[in-house]
Amino acid sequence: MCLFCKIVNREIPSNIILEDENFVAFHDINPKAPVHILAIPKIHVDSFDAVSPEMMAKMTTFIHDVAKEVNIQKSGYRVITNIGENGGQEVGHLHFHILGGARLKWGHFSDADPQGHF
Ligand code: AMP
Repeated sequence: MCLFCKIVNREIPSNIILEDENFVAFHDINPKAPVHILAIPKIHVDSFDAVSPEMMAKMTTFIHDVAKEVNIQKSGYRVITNIGENGGQEVGHLHFHILGGARLKWGHFSDADPQGHF
């Protein structure tokens, strides 16, 4: 069973801030911003690449609810999902990083030439 399935099943402790029948949101163990929450589906989905449009529709509402719950909806926030090796995905269970609580930076995403591909 994967790490985040174990969090869903309460086999690994986590700091859950919101939950419904389909999704769980909990604090990232290694926060990159004052607010850094992970929102995940309860059923195992490998990544965004494998998610159905139907689940994404529900997930969108859940992410909105998380932002409201932790009071970052008005101040603004960022939603990120890493996909696969080049995307930097470390945990193979779909998760959305919800980051906020301060003005976030925007930087270079790779050492490769950003003009080099097309
Ligand atoms: P990613 O690199 O997009 O796969 O992100 C995985 C995230 O999971 C990282 O930000 C980790 O800090 C976080 N993480 C790993 N283990 C745990 C855990 N047990 N509880 C909460 N967050 C975790």
